[in-house]
Amino acid sequence: MSTYLVAFVVCDYKAVTATTEDGKNVSIYAPADLIDEASLAIDVAPKILSFYEDFYNIPYPLAKSDHIAVPDFAAGAMENWGLITYRMRALLVNDETASPFDKQWVVIVIAHELAHQWFGNLVTMTWWNDLWLNEGFASFMEYKGADFVRPEWHMWDQFLLSGTWLAFSHDGLRSSHPISVNVTNPKEIEEIFDSITYNKGAALIRMCVFFLGEQVFRDGLELYLNRYKFSNAETKDLWVALSEKSAHIDVDVSKVMDTWTAQMGYPVVTVERHGNTISAKQERFLYNPRGRATEAYTSPYNYTWYIPLSYMTSDTGYSTYEMAWMNRGPATIMLDGNPSWVKVNINVTSLYCVHYKGAMWDNLVEQLQTDHTVFSAADRASLIKDAFALTRSGHLPISKALDLTTYLTKETDYVVWSTAYGVFSFIKELMEDKGDYHYLQNYLLSLIENQLTTNLWQPVDDHLQTFLQSLILSEAFHLQHQESITHALQLFQDWMNNSITPPPALKSLIFYVGAKYGGSVEWEYLWKQYENPDNSLEKKIYLRAMTATTDSVRIMRLLDWSLDPEKVRTADTVSVFQYLASNRGAQVLTWNFVKQNWNTIFTRYKDLAFQMKHLIDITKYFTSEYFYNEVKSFFEENLKGQDRRSVNQALENIEMNIDWLKNNQKDLVDWLKKHPINQ
Ligand SMILES: [Zn+2]
Repeated sequence: MSTYLVAFVVCDYKAVTATTEDGKNVSIYAPADLIDEASLAIDVAPKILSFYEDFYNIPYPLAKSDHIAVPDFAAGAMENWGLITYRMRALLVNDETASPFDKQWVVIVIAHELAHQWFGNLVTMTWWNDLWLNEGFASFMEYKGADFVRPEWHMWDQFLLSGTWLAFSHDGLRSSHPISVNVTNPKEIEEIFDSITYNKGAALIRMCVFFLGEQVFRDGLELYLNRYKFSNAETKDLWVALSEKSAHIDVDVSKVMDTWTAQMGYPVVTVERHGNTISAKQERFLYNPRGRATEAYTSPYNYTWYIPLSYMTSDTGYSTYEMAWMNRGPATIMLDGNPSWVKVNINVTSLYCVHYKGAMWDNLVEQLQTDHTVFSAADRASLIKDAFALTRSGHLPISKALDLTTYLTKETDYVVWSTAYGVFSFIKELMEDKGDYHYLQNYLLSLIENQLTTNLWQPVDDHLQTFLQSLILSEAFHLQHQESITHALQLFQDWMNNSITPPPALKSLIFYVGAKYGGSVEWEYLWKQYENPDNSLEKKIYLRAMTATTDSVRIMRLLDWSLDPEKVRTADTVSVFQYLASNRGAQVLTWNFVKQNWNTIFTRYKDLAFQMKHLIDITKYFTSEYFYNEVKSFFEENLKGQDRRSVNQALENIEMNIDWLKNNQKDLVDWLKKHPINQ
């Protein structure tokens, strides 16, 4: 057993215990007054453990599985063998006051840590350079485990949002890194616990399952785990085991996967149609290929990949979709018949985006407009995601991407809306302080208008519909939809004056509206709740809400308090800066405050890789050359080469903002002005 997996806990806690199908004890430990909040955990943990025994086809090797909530725990959770430790809110939820999202989080974290009991604990990576496989694998399996106990949550649809999309955003930057990296010291090891390791790792495992098939994947995994149990292994050992079990399908797993793990980035596949022939070519995708950032890194594969190219047409649909391989170069596909459209990378099972040349985009847009349900939610989401990514890389004019969004008036799927919301947020943030912002505001409001009815405020049973309600309302508040704001402020008053708690799913949004659109009374009330020791586990909800204020006096007070440990815990200080930086009205004040108090802040956080990353990240919202230069010289002077990757990432983001506005702002406004809503 690896030393990093050992845990001992001495405490005065209560426990609830249940047994798995084959009689192993699973217990949840919590402080006596919180033990009632262990009901969700004790329901799902034994079921997930039994499910994994079945999935891996290897029994859980210990006599018991304990799960314990630890106050002030820095990480989300830690997979110590047989005694998993969690942050309080990653294990315990109050059934009545917790939001559906809070509950989902608990199930996801339990499923993640239990997956490690085999992958990570039974077989441990030889060294940390293979961390991605450990974490990518658990980040993939958490969806399997959660989906098993809560099939009605549609976890695999959500995989795009918290897996693939995050991998895309980080890995499309020049300042990314290959998923396999050499690490030699603790700070370097801590640095790679990032979204490349977790999200890209999970997306690559999913791609592997896609081209091997689920059964081959499971057989290979079982072979690997049995071969190396109670011992160590490397990434290549898994590929060998998978290859042994996939000899009949003629794929060299190592050869394919090395192009994804040993080089950074991911490809954009450009498809072009001539009659029945589709030619596909690949190149590295970069959000800003014209950027000035240089990189010391050279790719061992010259940015070419083995790509599993899945596609379907208007004639074939999902039932008979096809697959071809791009072997580090172009590929040609012959179509049957004369389909009206072709969609590539079905359900986004693989990690590449797709650019359709000529009329191919228009044909997809036409289909979305006549009947969007022909495509799965994942495919609708991917069309939106890819189109807007391609406007940033210069492949597609913004007008084409906007044409694609007009069908959204009919869209009611959470995953699609969440994707659209993400791409619109990026544009809104850049346009918010521009004179033409109201055209964008009108258009985006027109897309959600159908949904802005009183029903939106009524509780529903469906998990993803609840998520959708919160999302649409959040968009409405952000776009200053007056009726929705008035209603939310009324709920805030009911809570403040009559102790009527808002519905759990809307609670944080109502607090947010109270802080943003209410006055000092509302804001002070939130502060009082934040300071109330009874709310100690919910502190962050209040803190997050308070940062929405647009009042500069309140912003300054919050900034001052953020450095006072009596008021804000030192673990939360950087979060205050992060939240405030995402608030257009507080950005410059926050940056100036950080500069002025740099010595204090730096002394506190310099050795904490995560905190430093988040701190540097607060500058990523700037949109002007002036701030680019200022941020650059400030960090050059004050960090002297430390945290270089985070600084480069922040600078690259600012540069992308500047370039996006330069390249797209005019076309965006022209398109919006022509739209009927703005006539
Ligand atoms: Zn993990």
